[in-house]
Amino acid sequence: MTAIVYHDDFTLHDNPYHPERAERLVSVMEYLRSMPFFDRLAQMQPEMVSEDLLLEVHTPDMVSRVKNAQGWLDPDTYVSRDSYRIARLAAGGVVGACQAVLRGEQDSVFALVRPPGHHATRDTSMGFCLFNNAAVAAQSLAKQGQRVLIFDHDVHHGNGTADIFYERRDILYQSFHLYPHFPGTGLVDEIGAGEGAGYTVNAPLSRGTGNAGVRQVMEEVMLPIARQFDPHVVIVSAGFDSHHTDTLGGLYLTVDFYGEIISRLLEVQEKIVCSLEGGYNTDVLRKGVAVEVATLLHTPVSCEDRVEDERGAGDVVQALRDTLGSYWSL
Ligand SMILES: [Zn+2]
Repeated sequence: MTAIVYHDDFTLHDNPYHPERAERLVSVMEYLRSMPFFDRLAQMQPEMVSEDLLLEVHTPDMVSRVKNAQGWLDPDTYVSRDSYRIARLAAGGVVGACQAVLRGEQDSVFALVRPPGHHATRDTSMGFCLFNNAAVAAQSLAKQGQRVLIFDHDVHHGNGTADIFYERRDILYQSFHLYPHFPGTGLVDEIGAGEGAGYTVNAPLSRGTGNAGVRQVMEEVMLPIARQFDPHVVIVSAGFDSHHTDTLGGLYLTVDFYGEIISRLLEVQEKIVCSLEGGYNTDVLRKGVAVEVATLLHTPVSCEDRVEDERGAGDVVQALRDTLGSYWSL
């Protein structure tokens, strides 16, 4: 069984002039409802994350800043009237999805939540993100003794997630992303620290890197490490701004490649929870989500979408082998 998490209240966090606006999610849901597989999806209602769990990931100061903010937390990151409650609902939605998968009630879930989360660090909301939904959910699993892989395919480095688990070996963070680009982190040598050394894997890719380059990074580095780590659950930070048309991006992925990512991760672990992050071309966003959901349902769909003149990633693969080869068999 595959489910989606959705609630109309996710559209209450909104600024119609901002790229991360409620219309994104409205469009995704409208498109999913038109898909032939929609009737096979279970629908889960999100519940607000508890303050106790939130405070295992974020500082009390940070939580109260979100609670009391009006307008903008920084020049990129807005709050609207209900944002504190909606951000807790988003984090709780991913937590609930992970718990349902852990209990075996669902095989996989796509959590269609907003605001996104992967830039939110332990103590700072930033980059359109209020609370780190994927991190809070991973923490909920880790405290039950589960190993968690967080795989991040957003065009931006998930600096918040990487930061929160930088010294942990029970949560493996893997990200490919455009570099140099916002937020400026995610170099190959950021591999984690202390007992978490080797448990952060960053592939910073040049502008124009496409499917073949990302495929090589996954096949030669990320998937071998993932198999050796042997996660109980995979959380995908699902950002679709890595598509070749995204105005905030610069990687050259196609819509169908998101399905390929999910099918390769399914070979590592069937228990997958996708958590929506970025993606600002609405048409691509909804197709990308649909392709991933269809792959989770084991009924892949395909979209007409081509890109020319993409770059490879051989240099990054070699640098990752050199850097991580003493931690993992590569
Ligand atoms: Zn992004």
